[in-house]
Amino acid sequence: MSLAESFAIEKTPLERYVAPEKPSLVGLTRMQLADALGELGVPEAQRKMRVQQLWHWIYFRGTISFAAMSSVSKELRAALAERFTLDRPEVVAEQISVDGTRKWLLRLPGDPDSGLPHDVECVYIPDTDRGTLCVSSQVGCTLNCSFCHTGTQRLVRNLTAGEIVGQVMMARDRLGDWPSPFVPPLKGEGRPPSVAEAGGVGSDSMTTPPGSPRSSRGSPPSPSGGGMRKITNIVMMGMGEPLYNLDAVRDALLIVADGEGIGISKRRITLSTSGVVPEIERAGREIGCMLAVSLHAVRDELRNELVPLNRKYQIAELLEACRNYPGVSNARRITFEYVMLKGVNDSIADAKALVRLLKGIPAKINLIPFNPWPGSKYECSDWEQIEKFSQVVFDAGYASPVRTPRGRDILAACGQLKSATEKLSARERMALRAMAMTD
Ligand code: SAH
Ligand code: SF4
Repeated sequence: MSLAESFAIEKTPLERYVAPEKPSLVGLTRMQLADALGELGVPEAQRKMRVQQLWHWIYFRGTISFAAMSSVSKELRAALAERFTLDRPEVVAEQISVDGTRKWLLRLPGDPDSGLPHDVECVYIPDTDRGTLCVSSQVGCTLNCSFCHTGTQRLVRNLTAGEIVGQVMMARDRLGDWPSPFVPPLKGEGRPPSVAEAGGVGSDSMTTPPGSPRSSRGSPPSPSGGGMRKITNIVMMGMGEPLYNLDAVRDALLIVADGEGIGISKRRITLSTSGVVPEIERAGREIGCMLAVSLHAVRDELRNELVPLNRKYQIAELLEACRNYPGVSNARRITFEYVMLKGVNDSIADAKALVRLLKGIPAKINLIPFNPWPGSKYECSDWEQIEKFSQVVFDAGYASPVRTPRGRDILAACGQLKSATEKLSARERMALRAMAMTD
């Protein structure tokens, strides 16, 4: 492969992460926390117990100050505060939509060499029985999928594990989704009831400066009578290709799934990849979360164009990796994402080829209406075509491949009200993707 060809497939992540002088403990694994305690002179014999305490305060309670860690000795609290913070990524803008969807723009430490800001987005989509958080893994993306806005960004760097876990913690701060300090865990339950925010969502789309991070009022009861958590599902479907940053994504997701901390089950965590074949097996083995694959085309020729990484790892190879994904079964299906592009990949013949191609793989199919962005060269398929396509998929035994009624509002805008759709920001684009994962 020539240099020019490989550049068409991927860019080099040139931006650097430069750690702040006073680093945050957010995102540290148990082992790393033990090392941090070692640096402060905590004797080895005590470290395990201290790590348990810190873990509980940081990841179970969501504590934002060392002073609140009442079970930790005063001296250690002071020493910790001297050397470390509990900072999450900085929220520079928050948008709340009528349907409760929230988007946060986060500013991460930039690279002093380039002087450019490192911004990522994180989106929360509430639904009746769940709340999904769409998390980013990179600033920008090294890949260049031709229908994806993130792919056009030149600025790329990997997020650290702390910046990934930090998105979840920031969102729980903003949503008032940490357990109340006053309510002990219920016996037999992994977590105590969560705390709902005071204000609710529901006003028109607006941008607010970040205000106080959380409040503490009663939470709505869940059907089972316990408390209802706001964030129940995580999808790695924000900016970036998670399998190009697998070590940090792994550390972050294992922290998010840890039952003594944030405790979101691995079955409710989905990692979406454009098809980085050599890393798929490792992701399954080392993380064990659900997998989604951005397929988008049934022929290599077309997929080469839509997802240039396909020139490196072709469809047959990708599907073979899916068949061998650790833990895959009918109860743990792989989701295949398929963006609906008018006149490009949305014919009935494509739909038939799609179900033929996936035969024998425990699969779900999510049809994602294309969300146009200024300068994009595609259009979203007409609604009728999406319905016809989805009928073929449905007849082949895949249940409700297109979105829920709420998704439909936005879908209706797609293609029919193009100018209005173009005004839909990255929030809607990400909300759509994340909704595609929440049935
Ligand atoms: N890089 C990973 C995860 C982030 S993108 C991946 O590609 O899978 C999450 C999903 O959104 C992918 O399926 C991606 O193909 C899709 N997507 C990107 N841009 C889109 C757009 N404009 N409209 C609809 N879906 C889009
Ligand atoms: Fe990157 Fe995914 Fe966008 Fe492709 S679709 S450019 S892999 S974020």
